[in-house]
Amino acid sequence: MNILIAEDDLTSRSILTAILKKWGFDPVVTENGGAAWDALQRPDAPRLALLDWSMPGMDGLEVCRRLRASGSRNPPYVILLTARDEKGDIVQGLDAGANDYVAKPFNNEELRARIGVGQRMLEMQSHLLEAQDALSHQATHDFLTGIFNRRAILDRLAQEISRAKRENASLSIGMCDIDHFKIINDANGHKAGDEALVIFTRCIQGRLRDYDSLGRYGGEEFLVIAPGSVGHSGESLYERLRAGVAAAEITTKAGMVSLTISIGVAAGTGQSNVDALIAAADAALYQAKADGRNRVVYASR
Ligand code: GH3
Ligand code: MG
Ligand code: MG
Ligand code: MG
Repeated sequence: MNILIAEDDLTSRSILTAILKKWGFDPVVTENGGAAWDALQRPDAPRLALLDWSMPGMDGLEVCRRLRASGSRNPPYVILLTARDEKGDIVQGLDAGANDYVAKPFNNEELRARIGVGQRMLEMQSHLLEAQDALSHQATHDFLTGIFNRRAILDRLAQEISRAKRENASLSIGMCDIDHFKIINDANGHKAGDEALVIFTRCIQGRLRDYDSLGRYGGEEFLVIAPGSVGHSGESLYERLRAGVAAAEITTKAGMVSLTISIGVAAGTGQSNVDALIAAADAALYQAKADGRNRVVYASR
């Protein structure tokens, strides 16, 4: 484990470096607050820092303040080292955002124990962050297909409308519904239906541009958001999606499954409203189904 040392005094720095090495850590050694701050900004920054309070230029206290002010969700654990040991100094150090405080000259075993506390805190912090990330992923992604769920794709739509407003741009959405999916389930079993949904999702995703979004709107209904205008020609994104799905070989454990989709497309601008845009795409989708399925219908504006 890397541990950052910031200490301007050569003797103290050498002693610290030597004992950290002896304890099996990899010290990253700096001689002032500015260099310590820079080291803590790097992507592979040490997670634990021993900062001397008094240093020329930026002192340890200022490094602590900057770290807290940066509002990082995964800040390093900071132990301030100082010759000051007045009660008021301790309070000031902790107020600045230090996690702990060791008075110089320090006792080796005490320092070792305090570093151990820091390691445990960091471990707990990273477990909490992992759990938080997992929960936030679960809250925004569909369990079966791994793409955005309904809530997340609707949030994305609101964001894209805002962006269109800022950039005076347009966007389109496509409500895609698999044709006669109930029959596919009935003929191949629900499990094969699930597999087909996953493969179908990959098929659509592979045909989208980086800045397009895809989400599962409902059971076998998927919403595509495509920033930028879409021509009403047969060569449009949505026609490519429709044709791609119709031509795709979807191989499930129960055998090959053929799918087609119907797509209702609605075009919008920065002035559009999420509900109205969805309603327009839904109406176009309804028309595509009524017209015989496996087709793209554009809502008239
Ligand atoms: P249409 O062309 O009119 O859309 O016909 P459809 O059969 O696709 O439409 P309907 O709404 O009647 O049926 C949708 C089917 O999609 C029924 C439902 O069981 C199936 N379905 C929805 N979600 C899932 C899922 O997660 N897995 C599987 N296997 N089937 C699903
Ligand atoms: Mg000093
Ligand atoms: Mg359907
Ligand atoms: Mg449906």
